[in-house]
Amino acid sequence: MTGLSDSFQRPIDYLRISVTDRCNLRCIYCMPAEGIRLMSHEDILSYEEIYTVAEAAAELGINKVRITGGEPLVRAGLPKLVQMLAQIDAIDDISLTTNGILLARYATELKSADLRRVNVSLDTLKQDRFKYITRGGNLGEVLEGIEVAKSVGLNPTKINVVVMSGINDDELLDFATKTITEEWHVRFIEHMPFGEDTNASSFVSVDEMRQRLAALGELEPCSFKGNGPAKYFRLPQANGTIGFITPVSEHFCFHCNRLRLTADGKLRPCLLSEAEIDLRQPLRNGISSAKLKRLIKKAAANKPLQHQLAKGCVPQGRPFSQVGG
Ligand code: SAM
Ligand code: SF4
Repeated sequence: MTGLSDSFQRPIDYLRISVTDRCNLRCIYCMPAEGIRLMSHEDILSYEEIYTVAEAAAELGINKVRITGGEPLVRAGLPKLVQMLAQIDAIDDISLTTNGILLARYATELKSADLRRVNVSLDTLKQDRFKYITRGGNLGEVLEGIEVAKSVGLNPTKINVVVMSGINDDELLDFATKTITEEWHVRFIEHMPFGEDTNASSFVSVDEMRQRLAALGELEPCSFKGNGPAKYFRLPQANGTIGFITPVSEHFCFHCNRLRLTADGKLRPCLLSEAEIDLRQPLRNGISSAKLKRLIKKAAANKPLQHQLAKGCVPQGRPFSQVGG
């Protein structure tokens, strides 16, 4: 097999880059309300260091990059990083995952820098509830961000909804209706236990979501652009799509194609396993491109076959916001 692959012959062509652990929200399932130790400026990779890693990864076979965080748009000059990554020939798809709060402000600049598309995380359409889930955010800013992103051509703009029992699962039909009325592309995601947030009672399986959505008509399978594990459907009369992501009830590890780079320069083979390889110190010691590539290959080789959530193994080391989702 040419290109980068792991020890189970899975091709690895997708790198998720977390550019910061900081965030302008504090979602209840992602970050603790307070007491989180934030990385210092020196801890996090510079844009030049991120570029060096991405360039080496691209030479090995990575052709898709997603920028995430923390909240990536709180890091100063993010469009500059997009522009730098866009200059790497082998990378043909640069996307962003954001909470949308700053999206209206940066969408035009991001598009000009060659960002292709954006995923916006939004778990409720109700202002009070949005404030509760995000511990203080303003829903109007996110809705405006979505509209501006679509209007400048960051398409498809996808809306990611983490579904939680007793918190927002009564809004499944409201989000699904948006695929008809506003051509939204909505993806429902199963809540994953992580760090201190091991609240299993909030879990809603995709099977259950689908049963509830049957009230709106039959879901027709369809294909839709993406690099991940979502399965897509359309409701009758909808131009938008509904995607389902099942990290818990039906894991997709056997098709996993990704590596993750944390903001502090660790290459993480699997979201749900603590193993990491440090790139920051070698980068700051002037590592050669050949040696850097060896470390990237080592991270790929270290990918576990699958996560162990079913056996109760939940990563405890870092909050979700530090690993990038
Ligand atoms: N701040 C950006 C955002 O919210 O889109 C990017 C980082 S955030 C960590 C990336 C994604 O992880 C978001 O879509 C968020 O909903 C998701 N996420 C965080 N904690 C999660 C959990 N426990 N289960 C499922 N998804 C989670
Ligand atoms: Fe911030 Fe995103 Fe985590 Fe919410 S999910 S706290 S927006 S990093």
